[in-house]
Order: sequence, then C-alpha cells, then structure tokens
Amino acid sequence: MYPQSSLSGRGRKGARPMFSSKNRRGPQVKSIDPNKFINKATPIIEETPFVPEHKFVDFGFDKRLQFNIDAHGYEHPTPVQDGAIPYVQEGRDLIGLANTGTGKTAAFLLPTIHRMLRHEVKRCLILVPTRELAIQIEEEFRIFAKGLSLYATLVVGGASINRQLSQLARKPQFIVSTPGRLKDLLENYGQRIDDFDVLVLDEADRMLDMGFIRDIRSIMSNLREERQTLFLSATITPDIEQLITTILKDPATVSVRKGETSSHVEQDVVRVEGGKEAKEEKLVELLSGPEFKKVLIFGETKWGVQKLADRLNQRGLRVAAIHGNKSQSQRQKALNDFKSERVQALIATDVAARGLDIPNVSHVINFDAPKQYEDYIHRIGRTGRAGQMGMALTFVTSGAASFEPPRPGGRR
Ligand code: AMP
Repeated sequence: MYPQSSLSGRGRKGARPMFSSKNRRGPQVKSIDPNKFINKATPIIEETPFVPEHKFVDFGFDKRLQFNIDAHGYEHPTPVQDGAIPYVQEGRDLIGLANTGTGKTAAFLLPTIHRMLRHEVKRCLILVPTRELAIQIEEEFRIFAKGLSLYATLVVGGASINRQLSQLARKPQFIVSTPGRLKDLLENYGQRIDDFDVLVLDEADRMLDMGFIRDIRSIMSNLREERQTLFLSATITPDIEQLITTILKDPATVSVRKGETSSHVEQDVVRVEGGKEAKEEKLVELLSGPEFKKVLIFGETKWGVQKLADRLNQRGLRVAAIHGNKSQSQRQKALNDFKSERVQALIATDVAARGLDIPNVSHVINFDAPKQYEDYIHRIGRTGRAGQMGMALTFVTSGAASFEPPRPGGRR
C-alpha cells in the first residue's frame, strides 16, 4: 500500500477546497478543486457486459479482410465498432464520440479497407494529433491489410522528409499524418492530395487543443469536396461543433462516451508540504511500493518532465520520459521500454501522452495537477482499463506553488 498518512482520508469529497480562487489576488488562474481528484472506484463486477448487435462476420467484410481479423483474434466488435462500421460501410459521414481504448481505430480502418477492396473508395487520409498515435494506427493498419496490396505511409514531424517524399511517390492508399508535416509537404514540396476520397480526423478535439485548426482547414482545402469524412473525438466543444457543421455532410453519430473510463479508477490526492523537492521525495517513496509496477506520471512542462526523469534515474529508479523535445526515435524507445516494463515509470506531458494505448498501467500519478478537468479525465483513463482496477493519485502542494498565479510586481 502507499503510505496512508500522506493521503487524504476517504470521504473527503465534501471537504473545503484548499485553493479557492476567492482568496487570491492578481490575475485569476483557474485551478481545479482538488476534491475533484478524489473518488472511489466502482467495483468492476457492477458493470453490465456490452452485448454487441453484430459479430464481425455479420458485417460481410471482404473474405481476405475477415481472414486478417480472425487471425488477429478479434471476435466481437467493441461498442464503437458495432455502431460505426455499418455507417462507414454505407459511405456515410460519421461523428464517433469515443476515447482511446475503445477500439475506435479498427472502427474506421476496417470498413475503409473493405471499401477499398471493393473499389468503392481509392485513398484515405488519416489526420492525428501526435506521432505516437500515427505509429499506432499504422501498426494496426498493417495487421489488417496484410497480403491485401494496400499500403500506408506515415507523414509525421521529426522524421526524414526525403524518405516520406519517396514513400508518397509510390502512392500509398493510406496516409497517416500529423497536420504540421502534411501541410509542409503540400505547401513546400508540391504534394497533392486531391485524389483522397476518405478523410479521417482522429482525436479531433486533441488536434484542436493543440492549435492545429488552421493546418487542418488548410489541408482540407486541398481535398476534394466529394469525400467521406469520419470525425472521431472524445468531446464536443463549441469549436468542434462548428468544425463538424462545416466539414461533415449528413453525418451519422455513434457515441460510446458513457461515464468515461474513470469509474474503475480509485482516485485520491497526495498532499505534500512544500515545493518540487518535497514532491520528488514523495514520488520516490511511492515508487518504492511494490504495487507501483507500471506507473504513468504526468508533469506540466517538457523541461520539468525531463528534469524529473533525470533526477529519478540518478537516484537509481528506472524511468523514461516522453515529451515534445525528444526525437521520434527517443519517444518510441521510451514508450517501448515502458510497455515492456523495462522501466517502472514513464513521465510524460499531456501532449506527448495523448492517444497512447498502453496496457496494464497500474497507477497514474499527477505530479503536476492538470489545468483542465478534461485533461485529468484523459490522464486517469490510462489506468483501470480492460476490466482491471486502476489507481490515480494527484499531488496537491499545501505550499500552493503549482496553483498560485504569479502576482504582477509581487513576491511569491
Ligand atoms: P483503440 O481505441 O483503437 O486504440 O484500441 C484499443 C485497443 O483495443 C487496441 O489494443 C486494439 O488492438 C484493441 N481492440 C480493438 N478492437 C478490438 C476487438 N474488437 N476485440 C479485441 N480487441 C480490440
């Protein structure tokens, strides 16, 4: 067990928030009431199992594709697959409201591969927020497209442009891309995408959060009007709604967002007196607990994440870091080391961790509390997956160092 004394007691939900915006002077920075980081997990037994309407064979997929699905061991569609596949097969535009871990990748890949095998569509562009998500999708594509003479190319930042250009010259049917790099190739390298007739925007809310909206719009202006657009997002914000109305035609909606993934996650705060050093000490103490087997730690800044990882490694712990200042191969290595449990912990920024599918994360630790509650939900959704219980701990400093906004002209 983690050291009880440092954790809040159970049933603190009604307690007074530690950091109330009323008490602050200076500019208002919203911080999340720490009581929102405390929640008892719902026992897994309470969940009613999902009964899919279809079996994979009911979708009537091309035999060669069905062979690959069988070979991969998928028997029953997940809810988002169950709902979305028939619409995508029909050629409808789609709004899929689903998080990572719901099987959303296969929900758009399988029917699109099927339609390509039937010559109903020719080429598919998949836009995603991060390189890691692009890699994951490409890996999944390879499994399903095995032996089908369909190819995918990754077009992502941090990798050789020349290599990507020569791969694109071979006209792969699928491009999996982050918006920045693709825009660069369109604007500066004369690439064209006007023969793509399927567009997938995966984790669209994340792409918008990351400020990709202009790149996305600019990329879309290079696409043909007659196309099928599949829009996947975990949330619908007013910005998203506006984007949806301008780019989708008569979309079908499939939502599997029920109660988020956090119901199986025991959530608590770890109250720490003092600043960064005290938090580091507490983290080291927690990581020495035997149940802290595969721990995903979130920090706020790239710099802070790297520094924390360096310090923990110096102290003899096995940790890796993942953030935007690392090269793609460094990020991939960190991820692989974590997935295969060569390291005990992965320290990440929100952006770098987006969309990653990492099985069996035992704990999520918010070393720095997230700024947005939505980020919190995303973070803790990395544990308590696939029918297992998970635990999320959020560090709350009573020194208020990470909550207090700087006061103009004042001392901190
Ligand atoms: P995704 O939400 O697409 O990232 O998928 C989450 C995980 O679920 C991945 O590891 C998939 O390989 C897996 N998965 C997706 N669909 C199925 C299915 N129908 N049966 C079993 N596993 C699946």
